[in-house]
Amino acid sequence: MLRILIFEEMESFIKQQPIIFKILCDSISTGVLIIDQKERIKASNPMGAELFGYTHQEIRGSSVETLFIKDQHIEFSELFSNIFAHQTDHVNPPLQLEGKARNGQIIPIEIRLSSFMAEKEKFILMILADISIYKKQEEEILQLNRHLGELVDSRTQKLSELIEELKDEIIKRKEAESKIKIALEKERELNDLKTKFLSLVSHEFKTPLSVILSSATLAEKYKTTDEQDKREKHLRNIRVKVKALNTILNDFLSIERLHAGTNTYQMDYFPLSRVINNVVYDANMLSKTGQKISYPENLTNEFMIFYDEKILELSLANLINNSIKYSPKYGQINIFVSLEKEYIAIQVKDQGIGIPKSEQKHIFDPYFRAHNALLENGTGIGLNIVKGHLEKLNSQLSFESEEGKGSTFSIRIPINKL
Ligand code: ADP
Repeated sequence: MLRILIFEEMESFIKQQPIIFKILCDSISTGVLIIDQKERIKASNPMGAELFGYTHQEIRGSSVETLFIKDQHIEFSELFSNIFAHQTDHVNPPLQLEGKARNGQIIPIEIRLSSFMAEKEKFILMILADISIYKKQEEEILQLNRHLGELVDSRTQKLSELIEELKDEIIKRKEAESKIKIALEKERELNDLKTKFLSLVSHEFKTPLSVILSSATLAEKYKTTDEQDKREKHLRNIRVKVKALNTILNDFLSIERLHAGTNTYQMDYFPLSRVINNVVYDANMLSKTGQKISYPENLTNEFMIFYDEKILELSLANLINNSIKYSPKYGQINIFVSLEKEYIAIQVKDQGIGIPKSEQKHIFDPYFRAHNALLENGTGIGLNIVKGHLEKLNSQLSFESEEGKGSTFSIRIPINKL
């Protein structure tokens, strides 16, 4: 109400004092154009013409469309007829257009349109504001946003590259860790081995070495020719003990090579009888009083076998030596050879102390010894080595045993590999 009153007062004041209207129009920094129904510029304030680089006299009478670059979406004639159709106090929402200045410069302009009546004719009042600064700022903000977006993108890219590098690093570290673990494990095994070797040397070497020493001392005493028998007995003792020591050392070296997988095997044809004869010959030197070793003496030299001869000899020697060791004096030891359809079986059977049932599952573990075997010298590595070698050559080692009754160890060599 108050607003209407002020305007009414101003209107009557302006009607009485037209100079006031001119001052008002001339001094404002917003352009004002009055447009008739034929879209021609009827009047303008100075700013309305200056915006486009003209004087208001120059633009009077020209079509308003010439001041703007044609917009794809805004059709002046449509716009004006729309406004003329409205009540005179209707104000259109502001529009942004591109003004075309006299020097060809393009100026972003915001226009507001409304219609009014004067002397029974309808006119359009066009208020123009140069929004170059606003547009420039808007563009700057857009550019800043774009730059920010690029920055975020490049940082994200760098971050994901960093994450990938970290992942690689983690994998490398894990690999290094597991290598270190393996190396440590090997180191620990080596230390274990050293400890075992030292205890082995101190326990297992003492007795044979003292036997060797006393036999050598005694052999020295028999000087005459008729004492040759006695001398030979002591020399044989020395040979047997040296052989036993040699076996222990070989076993020890062999277990290391076997577990490191550095063994190579030499497969060839050889008569089985040769191996059995050699092993039995050596075993007889170790056997206790009255022990008897029987073996298939009818095996001819024609019975050839394709295998690693040394490994078979080592395996049989181990089994027979155990039978001797863990059987009493006068015990019987039997070696059987049988040719089955798919394999050759060699068995070593004794009637010795046997292996307690509860300990049988550990019998092939390295360094394991059953409690009833501890009175005899031993290292607990022989069976582990034999089994390891045989399995590498596609063969098997098994046993049956009863405590106090005896044991039978069997080797199976597949025929298709022969
Ligand atoms: P070692 O005889 O040096 O102890 P082995 O590896 O040859 O080592 O044998 C492991 C263990 O198996 C022996 O300590 C013993 O307890 C048991 N064993 C092996 N052969 C026999 C056997 N013929 N009779 C009784 N026990 C045996």
